Amino acid sequence: MTTLLDVPRALLARGYDIGKTGADGDLGPSTLGAMLKVLKKVPVILAPAPVPSMPAGVVPSDWMPWAEMQRIVVHWTAGSNTASVLDKEHYHILIEGSGKVVRGKPSIDLNQAPVKKGYAAHTLNCNSGSIGVSLCGMAGAVESPFSAGNSPITRAQWEALPNVLADLCRRYSIPVTPSTVLSHAEVQATLGITQRGKWDIARLPFEPSVKGAKAVGDLFRAATKIRL
Ligand SMILES: [Zn+2]
Repeated sequence: MTTLLDVPRALLARGYDIGKTGADGDLGPSTLGAMLKVLKKVPVILAPAPVPSMPAGVVPSDWMPWAEMQRIVVHWTAGSNTASVLDKEHYHILIEGSGKVVRGKPSIDLNQAPVKKGYAAHTLNCNSGSIGVSLCGMAGAVESPFSAGNSPITRAQWEALPNVLADLCRRYSIPVTPSTVLSHAEVQATLGITQRGKWDIARLPFEPSVKGAKAVGDLFRAATKIRL
């Protein structure tokens, strides 16, 4: 419903009798009177359309200082499901096994090109302009035959990931494309920067049917897009 003139039509469509003039959209005093009588009984049809609520950000704004950033690289830590001091040194943002979002030690702006002392070293030869997000886990994991080790990444982490990515994409105006929001395992194939056999994230232990870096990347990109 967009204007007052749509009200008679909406009422008629719902089977309310508001007289002939109302059907024509003529809002004379008698029609208005009839309509008001009816509307008192059906207040719901004048309720404002639900406004899509802005999702509450999961990344606090002071974790996202102004910087020119080109991409986000998603990792796992190859550690436990909680963020250790060492884990925090390598990434800007970490997601623990419970889905809790934790800030890493380096500030994101240190990775703006050219990188500054204390930047997050998360992706070989690809740290300039790259935000590093990491899911805590996968210590002792083996790629083939696949074993997730003792600290597999969890569904809670996976579900928190697109919320984190959407906040970052919004803040830094990063489009969601295969070359701008990608996993570490996709960097070599997509950006052509050699990564010495990194396979984070090519498997989801809680969803064994998903296999391969591209399949996983396509999933978190799609989930991120719908949150923008
Ligand atoms: Zn990595």
